[in-house]
Formats: sequence, structure tokens, C-alpha cells
Amino acid sequence: MAEHMAVHVCPQCGADMPVDEGYPVWCAGCDWNVAPELFVYGLGGTAERRRELAGRHGTETFEELAREGTQGLRARLTPSYVLACALALLVHALSFALLGVGVWLLVRSWGNPFAMVFGVLMVLLFLVLRPRFPKLDESVPRLGRVDAPRLFKFVDSVAAGTGTRSVDAIVVEPYVNAGVTTYGLRRRVLHLGLGLWAVLTPQQKVALLGHELGHFANGDTRYTSVVASALYTLRVWVLVLAPESWKGRLTHLLVAGLLRIPYYAARSTLTLLEKITLRGFPRREYLADDLAAEVASTEAARDLMETLLHVERIDGELRRLTDEATADAGRPGTPRLDETLWPRLADHLASVPARERERQRRVSALRWHQQDATHPPTHLRIELLDRRGPSTAKVVLDERTERAMERELRSSAKRLARAIAQDR
Ligand SMILES: [Zn+2]
Ligand SMILES: [Zn+2]
Repeated sequence: MAEHMAVHVCPQCGADMPVDEGYPVWCAGCDWNVAPELFVYGLGGTAERRRELAGRHGTETFEELAREGTQGLRARLTPSYVLACALALLVHALSFALLGVGVWLLVRSWGNPFAMVFGVLMVLLFLVLRPRFPKLDESVPRLGRVDAPRLFKFVDSVAAGTGTRSVDAIVVEPYVNAGVTTYGLRRRVLHLGLGLWAVLTPQQKVALLGHELGHFANGDTRYTSVVASALYTLRVWVLVLAPESWKGRLTHLLVAGLLRIPYYAARSTLTLLEKITLRGFPRREYLADDLAAEVASTEAARDLMETLLHVERIDGELRRLTDEATADAGRPGTPRLDETLWPRLADHLASVPARERERQRRVSALRWHQQDATHPPTHLRIELLDRRGPSTAKVVLDERTERAMERELRSSAKRLARAIAQDR
């Protein structure tokens, strides 16, 4: 703490405003200058408008969950969930019907050239439209159980805490983010963004994994992969059936009329499926937050949310550190970036004063800060966690395990630091 902390007086309400060097001066009493970057002073009309424009459905879901409470609530068969799954299965059923008719034509009308051409075409079309299992990018290095036994053991314990099976692979990335997906038939992968992982406290790490693995526990990834492959199939349909793709051809006159109805059917199904899929997002995120609170404690999950409010700050510092290192490269005595990048990033976030953190919390409600397009506004996520009430952690990350995991991640961390520097 600085010995002589400067204090300004709020021009709006006269309250004292302690000054943190290098951070905006603002009033905690009346929100004066709370968001100079938005040119919003206090809760003005601009804030109201933003609130209206952003995350409207996130709010609906928020209000429903705030009434019902999230605790113990799991994925529910909401109408949009059932409708999305039914549509997706219908799309895939149509692909298999094509295959069936194609094979039937080939078998039954063997020797009839017309039927055979149609049969082959249908089988080929099925090969393009068939449901797909997502693959894991082979070119990206990933960690398996033997490479990082302690990290996997930790992930296993959080998975057990959320009541689900653990992951089969971990892909370490430089981003200030994390995520889970499935690949192959039933394989699970965790994407760990070091930009985020490096700045989290041990219990926030439990909360992050709790949220991500919570998506598995709630069946969100199973749903996503069924629907995502149906969306892909529908996009191919739209492309194939689009009148433009038949323009200028001899067949145009023949097929244009015939294809019009299937084309519009495919296009409206695509739009519908995209819309109802988006509707489900806020609910899934809120419920994953609830599982994060269950394993890591409500407090840790809330702390994690607050760290997410600083994603832009972390991103900016990551860029600044790499630029600085590139400029200093080769100068004697300069510490190597791959050794220092991630710890310095963590130090930077830890040095943000409490008042600036509080300001950021208030700004997030004005800006309707969202982690990304699929996550509901962060301040609503925080509020739902607050309503959940305090809880004790099911999984505690101790210092020894944390250090062991850090050692296991060291070579990936160095590789990524070098890769970022080269990209700049
Ligand atoms: Zn004031
Ligand atoms: Zn999520």
C-alpha cells in the first residue's frame, strides 16, 4: 500500500475518492466517472439502452432461474431442447432415408442405367450429408495421461465432483479462455487457455474446471454434437438446392421448379434450428456455473467470474509483454520470454487494486460484459451465484498439486510463449 494515498473529492456528491496511480478515479458513492471509457456517468440512458439491446434472452432465463434457484437443477427437457434434438434427428433420418432409397434402387433395378445413376447419386449424397463425429486436430500438440499424470488426476477429481467421466486429452492453448468438446465416438477433450489458467488462484482453477466439466455432466456437449452435425448437413442441403447453383445450366429449367420447395424447406429448417439452439445457451451456462460452485465453492466460482471481467486487460498485457520482449530481444541480461511470460501475466492481474476491481464489476453491469457470444452477461452470472448462497468446496487444490501441475505444463507453456512471440 502506498503511504500517502492521494484522495480526490467527488464533484457530484462530495465523497472522498482514493486514487490508484494509473487507474481511473471514480466515486463509489454515486458512480461518478465509474466508466469513463463508455462516456456513461452513473446509470444514464445509454446504460438502459445497452441493457435492452444485449442479452435479452439471457435475462429471461436469469429471472426464471433466480425464482427457481439453480441449486441441484440439471439440464431439463425445455421445449427448445426437445425441438432442437427432434429437428436434428429428423435431418439425420432424412440422410439415412436417402442412403436406403439409393441402395434399394441399385439392388432392385440392377441393369437399368437410369435407376442406377440415381442410386449412385443418392449414395454419394449421403456420404456428404451423413452425421459426422468431430475430429481432433492432429497437428495441435495435446497432453495425454502419461504426459501430465498430476494434471489429469486433478481433472479426474473435479469430474468426479460434478458427477461425470473425465477427459481423454488436454489441449493447451495460449488464449484467455477454456472449453470442452467431444471428438470421435465418445472421447472428451479439455481446451486449456494458459492466458486464463496462469492468472487463476488454485480454487478458481477448480471452479473453471467445474464449469467446463459441468457442461459434460449436464449433457451439453452431447446435445451440441448432434445439433452441430445437423446444422452442417442443413448447410450442405441449402448449398446444393440453392437456385443460384443451378443457374445457366441446361438442367436449370428442369430442376429449378422441382427444387424450390425442398430449398425453402431446408433454409427455414436451418434458420429455425440456429435460433432455438441459441435460446438454450444462457441456461446451460448458468447451470454449469452452479456445478462450478458445487465443486469449488460459491465464493471461488464468483471469484472466477470476476477474473473473467479482466479478460481484455489480460489480453492487452499479454500483447504488451510479447512486444516488449521482441523489442529487447538479443540485449544482454534480458530474461527469456518463455521463462517469464505466464508468471508476469499473473503478477499483472494480481497487482490490480481492489478499487479498480470494484469499478470493473460496476462497469460490467453497464456494458453487459459477456465472456463471449455464447455466455450470458457476467454480472447476471455473478448475481445468480450470490443468490445461491455460500457453500464449501468439494475439491480443494493444494499447493503441492498445483506446483506439480505447473511442472507438467512447463514445456507447453514455453512452447506457447515462443509461438506467441513469433506471431507478433
Ligand atoms: Zn460521488
Ligand atoms: Zn460454459
